[in-house]
Amino acid sequence: MFPTTLYGSQETQSLSLMRVKKGISHTCQWDVKKLCFEYDTDPYYQALDTKVKDYASIVGIEVFSPVSHTLFNPADVIQKNGGRPPLSYQSFVKLAGQPSWASSPLSVTISSLPPVGDVGGCEISEVPTIKELGYGDIEQDEFSPFRGGESEALKRLKESINNKEWVAAFEKPKGDPSAFLKPATTTLSPYLKFGCLSSRYFYQCLQDVYRNVKRHTSPPVSLVGQLLWRDFFYTVAFGTPNFDRMTGNRICKQIPWNDNDELLVAWRDARTGYPWIDAIMIQLYKWGWMHHLARHSVACFLTRGDLFVHWEKGRDVFERLLIDSDWAINNGNWLWLSCSSFFYQYNRIYSPISFGKKYDPNGDYIKHFLPILKDMPKEYIYEPWTAPLSVQTKAKCIIGKDYPKPVVPHDSASKESRRKMAEAYSLNQKLNGKVSEEDLKKLRRKLEEDSEDTKQEVKTKRMRQKLIC
Ligand code: FAD
Repeated sequence: MFPTTLYGSQETQSLSLMRVKKGISHTCQWDVKKLCFEYDTDPYYQALDTKVKDYASIVGIEVFSPVSHTLFNPADVIQKNGGRPPLSYQSFVKLAGQPSWASSPLSVTISSLPPVGDVGGCEISEVPTIKELGYGDIEQDEFSPFRGGESEALKRLKESINNKEWVAAFEKPKGDPSAFLKPATTTLSPYLKFGCLSSRYFYQCLQDVYRNVKRHTSPPVSLVGQLLWRDFFYTVAFGTPNFDRMTGNRICKQIPWNDNDELLVAWRDARTGYPWIDAIMIQLYKWGWMHHLARHSVACFLTRGDLFVHWEKGRDVFERLLIDSDWAINNGNWLWLSCSSFFYQYNRIYSPISFGKKYDPNGDYIKHFLPILKDMPKEYIYEPWTAPLSVQTKAKCIIGKDYPKPVVPHDSASKESRRKMAEAYSLNQKLNGKVSEEDLKKLRRKLEEDSEDTKQEVKTKRMRQKLIC
């Protein structure tokens, strides 16, 4: 007999949900009485779940849809804050308090699902192939180091938490973004994203470690602090209409980003001419994962740092290629890095040259992910265009032929970006955030004219100097 309860576990989130929803049409045939699936806060799944719940209510099926993907229920935190999501990490942590389930003993036994039984005439869909998922066009010469599944997730979690001193001393953002043989963080994000690992179980394991050490770090830098960042973005995303776009998003600054596809493609295809940036983008292609600060570097470079391309375009590239791609976290971090929300110090720009060098002066990370530069001496590895031609020839890498020249000069491009951000911020302040399309168009025009004027000024200055000489 087919069971009278349908279960949807987070582990096989979308597939099981698809099956559950498909199963609805068989509810009469199978006499389904109860439908269980995990509550999902993403708008896409919210809409889908509403349809399922509406149908279930019409046909008299009880629905059980608990929140368990996050530490807290985002709706509860929003309610505690008077109906609006808290917009700073500190206020979120204060409001959230301790999770209600935190003092329950660690659950180590994994309950099994009841047997499926006879499915009658229902066709069970196969797991889609990589090609069917739209990723068939990606050639891979180095496979992602992430194996899927709950057993793998638990094994990796155990490896991390067994090192009690490491857990107790964990302090982000202090890790090394260029460490790839042994990454500086847990690398558990893909498992959390797909529900192979419960964030609540992870949290309890961390608390267990903290109880058994003398001293440990605290949020926001500790490992528990990282899980709270995750919950923070889930909560704000859940309570903010149009969280994933600039227009109509009340917490997002309106900024006149470029519509320059050439720059976007150079960034996306790891051809910016800045080895640190390009190596990170190659790691994204090959692994689907990069260290948090590496993500910072490329997101800042694309947006308010150098290229001034819209954060939504970078977000789309990450969404497609990250193995841990997560709607709330990805959008939240792009808003942050582009100084569109949460973080507003747009003068603080990551250098595509000196930032990586600080961690990896020999450029081992670059040489691994960009083997075309493997023979470039370390003096030039972060700025290969400055290497004399004889050095480039010896390294078998001619800049402009084998590897691109920089798409923009960092010094002037970042200066220009700061100027644009300053103008955009002042417009947002003047109009109290109510910046229209037309206002942005006008600002874009003004910025272009100003930049033309600056160019003209430089030209005139040069001509005058020539005349004097
Ligand atoms: P650890 O440092 O070991 O942290 C443990 C867990 O805490 C992570 O697995 C993750 O679930 C959570 N966490 C850590 N940092 C953050 C953070 N800043 N925000 C929210 N949760 C966090 N993370 C994703 O999981 N999915 C994404 O789509 C994603 N997109 C990002 C886009 C940009 C532009 C940036 C700057 C960051 C993004 N992050 C994303 C956040 C962060 O970079 C990753 O969660 C982290 O690097 C994953 O590695 P880890 O599991 O070793 O993290």
